[in-house]
Amino acid sequence: MPKQPATLIIAIANQKGGVGKTTTAVNLGACLAETGIDTVIVDLDPQGNASTGLGLSAEARRSTTYDLLVGEETLADVTQPTAIERLGIVPSTPDLSSADLELARTADRTRLLHRKLRQASRPQIVLIDCPPALGLLTVNALVAAHSVLVPLQAEFYALEGLSQLLQTVKQVRQSANDGLRVNGVLMTMSDGRNNLAQQVEADARATLGDLVYKTIIPRNVRVSEAPSFGAPVVHYDPNSKGSVAYRAFASEFVSRLDLSMEPAT
Ligand code: ADP
Ligand code: MG
Repeated sequence: MPKQPATLIIAIANQKGGVGKTTTAVNLGACLAETGIDTVIVDLDPQGNASTGLGLSAEARRSTTYDLLVGEETLADVTQPTAIERLGIVPSTPDLSSADLELARTADRTRLLHRKLRQASRPQIVLIDCPPALGLLTVNALVAAHSVLVPLQAEFYALEGLSQLLQTVKQVRQSANDGLRVNGVLMTMSDGRNNLAQQVEADARATLGDLVYKTIIPRNVRVSEAPSFGAPVVHYDPNSKGSVAYRAFASEFVSRLDLSMEPAT
């Protein structure tokens, strides 16, 4: 079994918005922290939903992902504690939306996050909550990451979007990060009674096989309520269907860390 690096970096990416990236980042992060693993979420979306969803006020966002990308700060410098023990966050603010343009002029513009995250010294898991685009920010995440986790909502165009993302993963692997793996695909917001959703899930499993997580996250109103309370649903309502599913997913995720998943492209 391959030895795990001291810091394991997972990008949570899908260029489509509203598919469950942020929800997956905060709930997976909370579950990992609960099992004793030091975890940091890097909020790479200028909308800052992961920061809000973990209860970080505007005042608590003094040092941010923007500073990490363009400043001299280390990961430890910009990580803020959350209400959950062992779970930290690097918050984002709308400033980050200008980073895309500023970075475009920087030499080494795709390796800024890699430079900061790969030199982190203590064993921990870093989850990068990517924005809904395949721009420079997401490319930075893919260049920095050991693997990518893709939340997928079962809708008509989901698989087209996925193949576009996997194409980008392939390009990043060829150009800047040959170790990048696909950790897996997580079906999110599933409505079990919907025929189209069932068909998309079946197609995803037929095409991608074991890359698709066995656990499916159901659509559950408690999941959508949790962010307004500044808590992941696994804390806000631990017995809800959404929480049970996210816990099952987290344990599947942990067991998968020992496997080196092969590229899906
Ligand atoms: P993304 O980060 O990909 O844009 P989010 O995680 O923010 O997606 O989810 C989009 C919206 O859907 C949010 O309002 C979130 O609370 C809600 N949501 C996410 N997962 C579920 C779920 N399993 N059941 C119900 N609502 C969900
Ligand atoms: Mg998001």
